[in-house]
Amino acid sequence: MAFLEFARGLKVTLSTMLKPPTTIQQPEERRVLPERFRGKHALHRYENNLERCIGCFLCAGACPAECIYIEAAENDPNNPVSAGERYARIYEIDELRCIFCGFCEEACPTGAITLEPVFEMSDYERGGMIFDKAILLDPPRPQAVAAET
Ligand code: SF4
Ligand code: SF4
Repeated sequence: MAFLEFARGLKVTLSTMLKPPTTIQQPEERRVLPERFRGKHALHRYENNLERCIGCFLCAGACPAECIYIEAAENDPNNPVSAGERYARIYEIDELRCIFCGFCEEACPTGAITLEPVFEMSDYERGGMIFDKAILLDPPRPQAVAAET
């Protein structure tokens, strides 16, 4: 009986030892992520560089983890930040509280917030995982900046 158990265990060992390892040597090797992977958030702009976010709070309202903090402000009509009446003066996401459910993305009426296929997020301090606009927002498009000047 003991020998049978031993032989069964050995069979498993022998059948797996010739298979290629499943370990991925991150970061030299990259795993192909599923198409609908939800990772780090990003805030987007329109082609003309105006921010898509209009500070409507719908994403914060939909968030089950209450990890989105927004302060909205009125746009200056002569120098608007966003395409709406208001914009997000402060937009922060606590990525440590986020459960990456994607509800914020679904709730957003302007496509301003998305979850990107990026999972490399870490910090030594909790505060470093609160991502603000400096981290989340797309950089301005150079051609639009050149056209404005
Ligand atoms: S993915 Fe879900 S938990 Fe994370 S910020 Fe969006 S709504 Fe909140
Ligand atoms: S990201 Fe979208 S839903 Fe959230 S405040 Fe901005 S426009 Fe509204």
